[in-house]
Amino acid sequence: MRFLPVFLDLQTGPVLLVGGGEPARAKLRVLSAAGARIRWFATDGNHDVSGLNADEVARIEFAAGDPLAADLHGVIAILCAGAGAGGVGVAMSARARAAGLPVNVMDDLKHSSFIFPAIVDRGDVVVAVGTGGTSPVVARRVRERIEAMLPARIGELATFIGRFRKSINGRIAQMPLRRRFWERVIDGPIGGLVLAGRNLEAERALADITDPTTFAGASASGEAEGRVTLVGAGPGDPDLLTVKALRALQDADVVFYDELVSPEILDRARRDASRIPVGRRVGKPGIGQDAINKLLIDAAKSGQRAVRLKGGDAFVFGRGGEEVEALRQAGIAYSVVPGITAALGAAAQFEVPLTFRNEALRITFLTAHKARDAETVDWSALTDEKMTVVVYMGMTAATSVRAGLLAAGRSPQTPVGVFARATLADAQAAVGILGELPDLVARIDRGPAILVIGDVVAHSAPWSDQNFTQTISKLLEAAE
Ligand code: SAH
Repeated sequence: MRFLPVFLDLQTGPVLLVGGGEPARAKLRVLSAAGARIRWFATDGNHDVSGLNADEVARIEFAAGDPLAADLHGVIAILCAGAGAGGVGVAMSARARAAGLPVNVMDDLKHSSFIFPAIVDRGDVVVAVGTGGTSPVVARRVRERIEAMLPARIGELATFIGRFRKSINGRIAQMPLRRRFWERVIDGPIGGLVLAGRNLEAERALADITDPTTFAGASASGEAEGRVTLVGAGPGDPDLLTVKALRALQDADVVFYDELVSPEILDRARRDASRIPVGRRVGKPGIGQDAINKLLIDAAKSGQRAVRLKGGDAFVFGRGGEEVEALRQAGIAYSVVPGITAALGAAAQFEVPLTFRNEALRITFLTAHKARDAETVDWSALTDEKMTVVVYMGMTAATSVRAGLLAAGRSPQTPVGVFARATLADAQAAVGILGELPDLVARIDRGPAILVIGDVVAHSAPWSDQNFTQTISKLLEAAE
């Protein structure tokens, strides 16, 4: 993000508009509708104000002469648009910058210190959409979607809350409870009444709330009630978050996340939520499970809505079980939101059907974090050729995984795949046979990666790509 959207108070002074023709008039319309006072230098001499109402025209000062010599005293921003602006735009921009004023020269990023967003205007609710000046068409499309999504009276809802906020907040001591109070108003019947245009009834319903703290969902002691939500973040692609996961993230006061959770996913959390890494970092140990449990419990006890965000699913090699037990013991309210586990993300992306008619009738998920773990796996349970085996955390133990499966009688010809960073932009796959598993792992640039062992890998997309490439090169060799 290069341009930060901020909202300019148009009550504080006039905007200087330089330029003529339709582009300048378009800006004039936007500014007038927003209630701006405008000092307009029509560089083509045509001060056409058709389409504006009398009030709006009354706020326009029709300036004459050289805009470069204009009095900038009290001016809050400068805009150059349309006919004639191109010529003076650059010089105007230099003047504005010297005077410390924000300036926009239409279609000229280099000489602009601010740009115009596409705007959704619903009274007190205004949405600005920007694309950093790259594509007004994209901005307009986004605006259309937002327009369609927002209730027509959303601005009135904001105005309604604005009227009562101070007095109600004065009756609720705790910050988190204040926020929850208003969330309940917005999401509940009172908000519904305002959105339906029934403001009087809404006001009455608000006045009927005798104890705002209880309404906000505080416990009997008047404390904000905290809770923990274990959320599976999926394998990496933020679009694979569930609607529930997104809701929990949007609702969170604090997010405790693992190292596998990508910044893009963390970005979906509520802006004001604190974000606390608790996972292992490369080369550094994590803070430990007991410490994590304690953090979760303390957060909930202090009235916060905590999200415990984990890669994939919390209950698949995610220590979700330990955390739930600790929360239960401490009597904390909690819930669990499932996520797409790495095996399923990789299966979808690389088209590995984990089960297949008569070939694969069972799936086993196992972990072999270190060679030591791999040695403790009972491989004899995995001899069934119709079983797909998925190994989590298995990159470093690939040699032991191969040894274990071969010793259990699996054929060295069994198809295997190493699938890394599945569902992320830089996902990578290496497919081959069990006998060459360590070599396949060596071809992967970096983890996280899962190993999939079983005939189903021969149905995967990388497998058929590889066969296709091999066939082509054989044909080419033959032709030489
Ligand atoms: N709870 C997680 C697993 C955590 S264990 C889940 O359900 O997916 C961490 C292991 O998950 C990694 O070592 C790797 O084997 C696997 N993993 C996680 N994300 C992955 C991804 N995007 N692609 C491939 N494997 C992944």
